[in-house]
Amino acid sequence: MILIDGKKEAANLREELRKEVSSLKTKYNKVPGLTVILIGDLTPSQIYVRNKEKSAKEVGLKSEVIKYPDSVEEITILKKIYELNKDDTVSGILVQLPLPKHINKKKVIEAIIPEKDVDGFHPMNVGNLSSGYKSSVPCTPLGCYLLIKKVEPNLSGKKAVVIGRSNLNGKPMTQLLLKENCTVTITHSKTKDLKGECLKGDIVVAAVGIPELVRGDWIKKDSIVIDVGINKTEKGIVGDVAFDEVSKIAKAITPVPGGVGPMTIACLLKNTIECFKRLQS
Ligand code: NAD
Repeated sequence: MILIDGKKEAANLREELRKEVSSLKTKYNKVPGLTVILIGDLTPSQIYVRNKEKSAKEVGLKSEVIKYPDSVEEITILKKIYELNKDDTVSGILVQLPLPKHINKKKVIEAIIPEKDVDGFHPMNVGNLSSGYKSSVPCTPLGCYLLIKKVEPNLSGKKAVVIGRSNLNGKPMTQLLLKENCTVTITHSKTKDLKGECLKGDIVVAAVGIPELVRGDWIKKDSIVIDVGINKTEKGIVGDVAFDEVSKIAKAITPVPGGVGPMTIACLLKNTIECFKRLQS
């Protein structure tokens, strides 16, 4: 069984990106810049943004966090985004979710120009991804995709089952696997026989948010299992996959923590660099 080491893969990716930033600096005499807007004082968002900032600096990106109180007006955020859209030193803009209730998420996402949308949430990027064109891809599914490709470079003809249909994870994951010529089944809370569907998968990606939903007898022998879930339980953080059971059957599996999570931030840095390169050309 291959234990897919997301920490190691993320460190390798950051090292590649560090070298790329250094050569971009030589070529353009400037470095890619990532600006994160953080609203309110939710602890998980604060920790996540702090980690993003630290990783961005490690690879040599220009990194900035703009903080607002929970009570900030929507118009203030929109005006800041319009300003950042025009700022040449900013290659990527990210507004940390979730937002306070009085701020319209759709308006905020659509205010960021697609060229600087490092989260890949803008409808233009979503459309480009589903049309098979170049686009920013949401960081978590991009990280999952890179991990799968490390285990199995040729995915053509493989049967992939994605559990969860969120815009953040399930849908973009499906598009990435389709692009690799997988036969993809997307499943969700209304799927009739989830176990039966999972049993058909050479690749199973679980992005649900239910602790240890996917059991050992749901998984075909020699499949690749990617666990996106992060669930707080009495026994600590667990994924959507019952690791002890599934790791006895699968060919390869990501642990939680230490699997998909570390790749998410590394992919945000990758997306920032990609935006920078697109903006230069
Ligand atoms: P979401 O709540 O937006 O979507 C969950 C999806 O699961 C929905 O499409 C729903 O239809 C489906 N679902 C719910 N119950 C189901 C069931 N019983 N059977 C089958 N499908 C079911 O969640 P999300 O934002 O996509 O996040 C999913 C999980 O991934 C969460 O645990 C979240 O914390 C985690 N997450 C991890 C990372 C990371 O970096 N590792 C990033 C984002 C989210």
